[in-house]
Amino acid sequence: MSLFRPSVDQLHGYVPGEQPQEPGWVKLNTNENPYPPSPAVVEAITRTAKDRLHVYPDPLGRSFCRAAAEVLGVEPEWIIPANGSDENLTILVRTFTDKNDLISYPYPSYILYETLAEIQGTRHARLRLNADWSWNTRLNRPLLEQTKLLFVPNPNSPSGNKWDAGTILSLVPQQGVLVLDEAYGDFADQPHKLELLRGDKGDRIIVTRTFSKSYSLAGLRFGFAVAHPDTVAAMRKVKDSYNCDALSLAAAEAAIRDQAWMLSNRAKIVATRTRLQTALTELGFNVVPSQANFVWCTHPTRSHEELYLALKARKILIRYMKFPGGVDADAAHPEGLLDGLRITIGTDPQVDAFLSALSEII
Ligand code: PMP
Repeated sequence: MSLFRPSVDQLHGYVPGEQPQEPGWVKLNTNENPYPPSPAVVEAITRTAKDRLHVYPDPLGRSFCRAAAEVLGVEPEWIIPANGSDENLTILVRTFTDKNDLISYPYPSYILYETLAEIQGTRHARLRLNADWSWNTRLNRPLLEQTKLLFVPNPNSPSGNKWDAGTILSLVPQQGVLVLDEAYGDFADQPHKLELLRGDKGDRIIVTRTFSKSYSLAGLRFGFAVAHPDTVAAMRKVKDSYNCDALSLAAAEAAIRDQAWMLSNRAKIVATRTRLQTALTELGFNVVPSQANFVWCTHPTRSHEELYLALKARKILIRYMKFPGGVDADAAHPEGLLDGLRITIGTDPQVDAFLSALSEII
C-alpha cells in the first residue's frame, strides 16, 4: 500500500529539459541565453557573498522591488520576486484556486501549468489552439467562462508566436484572473510595457517575468510578478518566508539596472533568430515566425524524433516535443499528434554547428 497522497501516486510530474553536466555539448534545448550576464551581476554577487551570507535576506526583496519599479515605471508594491518564475506560478495557483476551481491554459503550451494544477488537485482544462497557433475563442468560450485561473504564455512556447493585446484582453476570465507569462517577452518586436495592468481589467491580470532568459541568469533562479498590490499582498501570505536568497536578489537588482547589457544581448539573439529561420526554411522546414529566443519548426516528411536523435549523437542538443491531441487528425497527423523541434537561439557559431550538422543529416 502506498503511503503517498493518492493524488501524488497519480501525478505525471514535470520533466525538465535535459541538462547534461559534462562539457562539449552545443546546448540549444532549454532556451537559455548563450551570452553571459552583465559584469555588474558578478560584482553584486561577490560583494554580497563577502558581507551578507551570515544573515537572512530581506523576505520581501524590497531593494530589488524598488529597482524593478524604477525600470518598469510602476510602484514597488506591484512587484513580487520569486525563486524563478516557476515559483510565482506555483504561488499563483495556491493563491487563487481550490479543488473545485478550474485552471486552464492553451494547448500546446508550457506543460508545467498542467502539472501545477494536478499537484494542487484542481480541475484543469486545455484550451486547444488553432493549427496556425491563433486562439479559437469560440471553441474555448464555455471553458473560459468557468475558468478561475488562466495561464497564457506570451510569446507562447513551444511555438514562439505572440498574441496581440486585444486577444489577450478578450481572454480575461469573467470569474477569474489571467496570468500573462512573459518569460520570453523581452525578445518580442514590441514587448508589452505592462500597459494591460493599467486598463479596466488590470486588477485581474498578473504578469510574470523571468531572469532566466533575457538576463542570462538561468543558473540563479529568479523571476518576479507584477500585479495589483492587493494580489501581491495575498501572494506574500502564500509564499515561503525567504523564497529568494541574498545572492539572487543582489544579482537580479544589478541585472535589471543594466538594461543596456540585456538589450545588446537581445539584439544579437534577434539577428541570429532571423538567420536561423531563413536557413531552416531553405532546408525545407515549416517555421513559425518567432518572437522569442527559440524557433519551432516541423518538417513535412522527416521524423522529428529521428532528427533530434541524430543531432544528439553529434552532441547537439535541441528539443523534440510531442503533444497528443494537439491538432485535428488529418493525413499529416493521423492521430491528432502534433510534434516538432524547438531550437534555442544560441551564439552564431553554435547555430552554424547546428545547421551544418542538420544539412548533413537531411
Ligand atoms: N514560463 C515559460 C513559458 C517558460 O518556458 C519557462 C522556462 N522553462 C518559465 C516560465 C520558467 O522560468 P524560470 O526559469 O524563471 O522558472
